[in-house]
Amino acid sequence: MKPSKHNMYRFPWSVNDNPIGWQEVTDRCNTYCRGCYRINGMQGHKSLEKIKEEIKLLKELRNCDNISIAGGEPLIHPNILEIVAYIHDLGMKPLILTNGIKLENNREFLADLKKAGAIGFTFHIDSEQARPGWKGKTEMELFELRQHFADMVAEVGGMFVSFGMTVYPGNLHIVPEMVKWANKNINKVHGLVFIGFRNAVMGGDYDYYVDGKQINMQTSYIADSNEESYLTSSDIYAHLKETFDHYETSAYMGGTHNPDKMTWLVAAQLGTKNKMYGSVGAKVMELFQTIHHLRHGDYVVYSPSHRIPKIAFLLGLVDKGVRQTAGKFFRELLRHPGELFRPLYVQSIGIIQGPDLLEDGRVDMCESCPDMTIWEGKLVHSCRMDEWRLYGNYVVAQRRPGESLIASEDIKTVEPHLN
Ligand code: SF4
Repeated sequence: MKPSKHNMYRFPWSVNDNPIGWQEVTDRCNTYCRGCYRINGMQGHKSLEKIKEEIKLLKELRNCDNISIAGGEPLIHPNILEIVAYIHDLGMKPLILTNGIKLENNREFLADLKKAGAIGFTFHIDSEQARPGWKGKTEMELFELRQHFADMVAEVGGMFVSFGMTVYPGNLHIVPEMVKWANKNINKVHGLVFIGFRNAVMGGDYDYYVDGKQINMQTSYIADSNEESYLTSSDIYAHLKETFDHYETSAYMGGTHNPDKMTWLVAAQLGTKNKMYGSVGAKVMELFQTIHHLRHGDYVVYSPSHRIPKIAFLLGLVDKGVRQTAGKFFRELLRHPGELFRPLYVQSIGIIQGPDLLEDGRVDMCESCPDMTIWEGKLVHSCRMDEWRLYGNYVVAQRRPGESLIASEDIKTVEPHLN
């Protein structure tokens, strides 16, 4: 089953007007994750001055509402509190993308981050990490750790929290388990992010070039085989659709070359602690983005508050998804009137499909990539920044010449008729 573009809102973001700015503060990390796009510790922590300059430039170039503070592991940067405060003072929302190791038993640090202005966290936890104390644990065993962080952030209160995992064919079956767990914790968990694993296979039919020179590519995402690197966003979507009646996507982002590709698929589910009722449709997503842009002059993605007043069901007048959700909710009220007094929440599910090497050697990226970052004063895609760090430019794949090439002398030209 494939999501239909007709029933989804296409995010209107662009390179110039994008809700997200991606700021890497260090390339050091305190663990190892398979699927990481960064070479660990090649350059170390960036200086506070450099980070501030880059954040200012992101705001200027991207008109962003949020800065995703990433790495490496951003919480090991010695100036992390000042970085968060700086973003907050510039009127943007600092969101921290972390493996959580530094926060595991450190509620005080979490509270300090909130005090500095952090709006929340996206925790990356999966079984392909060499996480101290959790190495070798299965995805199911890791729910204990996810619960620990969800509880901790909820105790501090007023913050956004989502959980991410890299999806391989081997752990695809865990994706619905993640959704079940998040639904059960909808009062604490704002969202989930699933990223389809991608790597770049060396050899085969391609040679790799930078500025016309052939190179021996050495990024962390090179591999001998791509046998695990094929799950698309639509595959992950189909897997969720098989399991959940209430799940439906409402917005998407396409690819830069392939019109059939959906790089980002975003759903906003609605439910109470007791039951999930449905998902908002395209119209609400469109209204949300448009009204925010009209009121604040920029687009938006993250919000620390995810409790929804039930009057929002009136949006069912314009949105089919909300209409269906409201219908289910009111039918449930007849059987369980107590639901009326349970808080209603929205919980997002983002599915991301990274770059794909096309047959002709072009790389299909996410159109209006939200995760662009600054490299030496210019915007680059964060997933491919190591190409800039190693080679000073994007690597270009070129197919080795095959027999189908036409020799130039065989190309027939026709004289134009001018009359
Ligand atoms: S193109 Fe941008 S949004 Fe897509 S995977 Fe790369 S960095 Fe992320």
